[in-house]
Amino acid sequence: MASTKDAGRRGLLLAASNDVEAAGAHFRQAAQAGRLHELLGVEFTLPGVQADEAVQWVYTNGMVNTRTGRVIYDQLMAAPEDERCPLCGHGMVRSLDHYLPKRMFPALCVDPLNLVPACADCNHAKGETTPGLARTTPLHPYLDNIDNDSWLDARIAGTAPVWLEFYVNPPPTWDALLADRARYHFDLFGLASLFSTQANRTLSGIRRQLMSVFAAGGEDQVRAYLAEEATTRLVHRPNGWEGVTYRTLAEDDAFCRGPFAL
Ligand SMILES: [Zn+2]
Repeated sequence: MASTKDAGRRGLLLAASNDVEAAGAHFRQAAQAGRLHELLGVEFTLPGVQADEAVQWVYTNGMVNTRTGRVIYDQLMAAPEDERCPLCGHGMVRSLDHYLPKRMFPALCVDPLNLVPACADCNHAKGETTPGLARTTPLHPYLDNIDNDSWLDARIAGTAPVWLEFYVNPPPTWDALLADRARYHFDLFGLASLFSTQANRTLSGIRRQLMSVFAAGGEDQVRAYLAEEATTRLVHRPNGWEGVTYRTLAEDDAFCRGPFAL
């Protein structure tokens, strides 16, 4: 800041950093109160900075260039190579998505709570979606951590060929609002279709294996094999499509009786 020669520019920088800080506090209060859907973009602009330049302006003059801002930003970007996208639980993290879009909420464009690691597909699917209503507020990975609740379920929806339909099955501990939000999130990111496609690939891949397990021990052995595969996966990821696929197949008597041809 000391090297900033122009007094007007220095004033603008100071005002913007105050605005960024106040915006962050306002954002957190709304998040804690479950009122993110009530926030308006107009409350998160930077006075004195053109709307279309604001984001670039904050990146270059604001938080990212301060020591703290840089460290937080780098930590968020430095996700492990195999880190799964927290929005779909499947894709690889490729970028930071702005939970509240940066174009409409420029004062939050480098706020760590507004930056969510995402895969390319989820980043694209979300676009500039904003929470319109309480029940259409997408799940926020840091604020709505539901990973330890078992909420993903599937059913066999077709038999020739066998295919799985995935859906949100809210646990009894959830209230109606969380269930609605989870369903909205599921639709927004196209998770039913994504998981169904992956499950079908898995099914094709294990068909030969199922035939030999069945030949060795019949229906019961197929069921035991599928249940074991499910448990191994669900222990680590209670809502992973792979574990849910195996569990759904294990629980379906008709499937376990075969045949396992296409
Ligand atoms: Zn994703």
